[in-house]
Amino acid sequence: CGVFGIWGHEKAAELTYYGLHSLQHRGQEGAGIVVNDGIELNVHKGLGLVNDVFKDAKFDQLQGRVAIGHVRYSTQGEKVYENVQPLLFRGQTASMALAHNGNIVNAYKLRGRLEKQGSIFQTSSDTEVLMHLLKRNGQDVNEETIGNALNQLVGAYAYLILTKKKLYAALDPTGIRPLSIGILGNAYVVASETCAFDQIGASFLREVTPGELITIDDEGIKSIRFTASNQRRMCAMEYVYLARPDSNLNYVNVHASRKQMGKELAKEAPKDADIVIGVPDSSISSAIGYAEESGLPYEMGIIKNRYVGRTFIQPSQELREQGVKMKLAPVRGIIEGKRVIMIDDSIVRGTTSKRIVQMLKDAGAKEVHVRIAAPPIQNPCYYGIDMSTRDELIAANHNIDEIAEIIGADSIAYLSEEGLERAILKEKSLNQGICMACMNGKYPVKEIVEKEVVYSS
Ligand code: 5GP
Ligand code: SF4
Ligand code: MG
Repeated sequence: CGVFGIWGHEKAAELTYYGLHSLQHRGQEGAGIVVNDGIELNVHKGLGLVNDVFKDAKFDQLQGRVAIGHVRYSTQGEKVYENVQPLLFRGQTASMALAHNGNIVNAYKLRGRLEKQGSIFQTSSDTEVLMHLLKRNGQDVNEETIGNALNQLVGAYAYLILTKKKLYAALDPTGIRPLSIGILGNAYVVASETCAFDQIGASFLREVTPGELITIDDEGIKSIRFTASNQRRMCAMEYVYLARPDSNLNYVNVHASRKQMGKELAKEAPKDADIVIGVPDSSISSAIGYAEESGLPYEMGIIKNRYVGRTFIQPSQELREQGVKMKLAPVRGIIEGKRVIMIDDSIVRGTTSKRIVQMLKDAGAKEVHVRIAAPPIQNPCYYGIDMSTRDELIAANHNIDEIAEIIGADSIAYLSEEGLERAILKEKSLNQGICMACMNGKYPVKEIVEKEVVYSS
């Protein structure tokens, strides 16, 4: 998911709309904006892409100098309207809106407890739990109560909380998801990715740090720590495929890190071949890096039809296959008769790679050598990326040779853990580590995940 918030601009809702556009790649299932007009909070949201949801929106009815927005991609909760964020709660004393990127590992347990105490939930989303924790005993919502509520959550979260008086931004103690602060004139902006700042002409101020709660109001910006632990473990998959190449995450440019992944991969797994190609869009950067390091020519071997949106791809296997065919096409004149190194950013289920290898062979490729710019994904993610069961992961169930056979490649190699770490942390002087749990099983909040498994099964 992607979150965006702005405080102190006449065109808050419109800017949020533009910001959400640039975060669209983080979620295509639903989008919404809540705006604060100084008297009340108003919402416009719906299922679908930002463009569709706001096609008929009247921005003159979304007046106010403060807004938050969200694009949704569901890892928890169903794909229904109620789960589209921001979630807006109307109260006699105070209304409040919430936008969340991440996944709350202990949501099921907390929800069970809250329901026993009388809470009634409107959604099946893990996000709503925070609202109930916040409002129990009719407490005021302030830094202290938010801090207390956050300390009951386990997992990954970048939260935006909007009240009539303040905008809060919070990041979990391991900082698994990205969240940055920017400035636009006198206004403050918060977003999942810095590309949203560039989109609206805002400048980057700094990252929200793990375990930090930011308060923004007309007085300016304030920061407290709601927990002492602050070991950053930014999600490696953000760099590998999720984030936009023009974003900087934790002060590292995403394109630069991907290019470096390609270079590391070329060093670790060289191959004599004629051309290097990447699977658009997310593998282009690493393919360029691989080509540069190996000295082989980078070619545009696959093109993407930019008019085939995700919504176009229907939920039946047959139609989905047609969808992939419509989305990607081989450049036959380039591929034919060549020994091709095909770079992909990652393999999850293996279906994409299999189809692309087949497509390249059908287009006359003599050999297809698959090089993956990340280590094998062998473990589920509990922190907000949609890979939640081991069964669906090809690398959890097959070794390298079997994978090559299944996807029909002449050879296959993955980037090592060390290589990925070097590529991401290379230019970084500012501290800290990354999460690679889906690749190496080292879960940053492991104890809790295991406990949770015991409790919920
Ligand atoms: P698969 O191996 O499951 O067919 O797809 C892998 C491709 O999907 C990769 O090229 C990558 O760009 C993209 N991808 C990687 N991880 C994920 C994920 O968690 N969710 C989705 N929707 N796509 C992913
Ligand atoms: Fe990212 Fe993998 Fe960690 Fe999930 S387990 S947060 S996908 S690195
Ligand atoms: Mg891809």
